[in-house]
Amino acid sequence: MPELPEVETVKETLKVRLLGKTIKEVFSPYPKIIKMDFQEFKSKITNQTFRDINRYGKYLFFVLDDYTLVSHLRMEGKYYMRESLDQLTKHDHVVFKLGDNTFLSYHDVRKFGTMELVERGMEFTLLSVKKLGVEANQKNIDADAIFEKFQKAKRPIKSVLLDQSILTGLGNIYVDETLFRSKIHPEVLASNLNKDDVIEILNNAKIVLDKAIQLGGTTIRTYQSSFGVDGRFQNELNVHTMVGKPCPICNTKIEKIKVGGRGTYFCPNCQKRKTL
Ligand SMILES: [Zn+2]
Repeated sequence: MPELPEVETVKETLKVRLLGKTIKEVFSPYPKIIKMDFQEFKSKITNQTFRDINRYGKYLFFVLDDYTLVSHLRMEGKYYMRESLDQLTKHDHVVFKLGDNTFLSYHDVRKFGTMELVERGMEFTLLSVKKLGVEANQKNIDADAIFEKFQKAKRPIKSVLLDQSILTGLGNIYVDETLFRSKIHPEVLASNLNKDDVIEILNNAKIVLDKAIQLGGTTIRTYQSSFGVDGRFQNELNVHTMVGKPCPICNTKIEKIKVGGRGTYFCPNCQKRKTL
């Protein structure tokens, strides 16, 4: 599943390929990806030019002349540039023909991705975007505000960090790495953490995400970005996917458990369980 660093990589790659290009036609073998009437979508988006691409959390914002196309890749969504229609596969669900006769295609094996079209500048009024918390790699996050939210969360810290309405941008991989660096057991209740723990988590989340963005994300079996762009953060993983391997700090074997239904990797020695 793409997480914030992978979506950032997709954004940067698409910017190089798309800015200044105009949508001449759009067709969709599976229009359910688009959360509005397809004919309306088509009439609005035709002849619009890509002016910018932004990202918030795991949402991509394609800024056009008058509208913003808001895209969420969910589990498996990818964008490809196609030179001709022959290159399309049965998993290409929304296809934009561009002014230079190339195609931007949205490819999604699981079909969980979504696209919404809003007036340009109104992307943050979408309910799904509005409910997102502050991005976990932003500078100077208000630790008191996060601490307050943790105090109310009688759930394991792993689940709370995956909850995008508290902090956005940390998925399964980066939560495991953040908690390892913070020496916090993934099952500890968020409400039992103190202010110093919160500061430690925020610092480490930023370090982990910034490093992952710098390395183009993580390419493991669950997600490979389009354009053959492979991330290199998988070489920096300390615990995620490392079950049975020695902890890089203390040599204890990394363990895997389930927390809130999600596979969770941790060092039982470095991340000793505090009071639950
Ligand atoms: Zn360890």
